[in-house]
Amino acid sequence: MSVLVFIENWDGKLKKASYEAASYGARLAAKLGVQAHAVVINVADDASVLGKYGIDTVYAIESNELSSFNNYKMAEAITTAAKESGAKVLVLSGTFTGKMIAPLLAVHHKAALITNAVADPESTSPLKVKRSAFSNKGYVYYESLAETAIISIVPNALGITEHSGKGEVKKLDFTPTTPVQVEVVEIDRAKGKIPLPEAEIVVSAGRGLKGPENWGMIEELAEVLGASTACSKPVSDMHWRPHSEHVGQTGITINPQLYIAVGISGAIQHLAGVSGSKTIVVINSDPEAPFFKAADYGVVGDAFKVVPALTEAIRKYKAQ
Ligand SMILES: Cc1cc2nc3c(=O)[nH]c(=O)nc-3n(C[C@H](O)[C@H](O)[C@H](O)COP(=O)(O)OP(=O)(O)OC[C@H]3O[C@@H](n4cnc5c(N)ncnc54)[C@H](O)[C@@H]3O)c2cc1C
Repeated sequence: MSVLVFIENWDGKLKKASYEAASYGARLAAKLGVQAHAVVINVADDASVLGKYGIDTVYAIESNELSSFNNYKMAEAITTAAKESGAKVLVLSGTFTGKMIAPLLAVHHKAALITNAVADPESTSPLKVKRSAFSNKGYVYYESLAETAIISIVPNALGITEHSGKGEVKKLDFTPTTPVQVEVVEIDRAKGKIPLPEAEIVVSAGRGLKGPENWGMIEELAEVLGASTACSKPVSDMHWRPHSEHVGQTGITINPQLYIAVGISGAIQHLAGVSGSKTIVVINSDPEAPFFKAADYGVVGDAFKVVPALTEAIRKYKAQ
């Protein structure tokens, strides 16, 4: 019996969300009194670094057939590693990739599937996990009744913790047998930016900016903060910004350390995707804007004055 963590990578580099998943898996394994292992697929980085986060064995799979994303084949690869490691709990990060793989793993293993985990398990016998629900407006506690459990954790919700693990990398042979159902035809990736689900700081703007020509000040503020940019749904619907920046119930869910919302009213559907942010700063000219109720800090003022002043103040502060 062990815990197996699926470690994602981005062009061969281990993703931040995966260190968090490794830490979670290691803490859970310690509670269960078993070892934590991990599986990596086509990783260029030195995966032994996962030992720092409590991973004992890293099963490394190399396969040309997994060079582009295929959730069926990846689930089969993870299942192979799970069998090799004798895992009864599988941990993934709830990224786009994790969300596409976790249900397939549950089918492969006839397992209990617990998604959106936001805390370490309350108990291990039975395995009881707190998850966010109702668009982040509440929590639900799930108990696993199955022999095997798949847990996917909300990215950035739990943080990275260090534990001592051996970090021994073992090559694992794998040849997929799953018939190809879907083929990746083309990848159109946003370049040179931190992907939104991975971002620590996000500067986001809405219809209050009046038009796409005014986004320069948002990008400048993001640049001084080392932040990613996001937007509300109508902004991407009107093609002021790309759809890859749309956050909310029907867009990307983010959990950054800092979320700065500029000229966004704070509709419930927007909040559904951003309320997991650790600190929320709202800049809005309307003191009655609903977003202020969800804010840790609020500035009532004209974004066209407040944002450049804030950018300048941060620049000066950083120069000191
Ligand atoms: C099924 C469904 C799903 C949806 N999913 C999403 C989703 O995923 N994400 C999402 O964002 N929305 C979503 N919406 C839309 C949502 O309900 C809101 O309509 C939308 O979030 C509003 O966008 P906004 O805040 O940019 O614009 P508005 O509501 O028009 O707000 C603009 C804000 O800017 C402020 N403002 C104006 N001028 C200035 C200025 N000069 N300086 C500072 N502030 C200024 C105004 O006071 C106002 O609060 C969804 C709606 C539905 C029905």
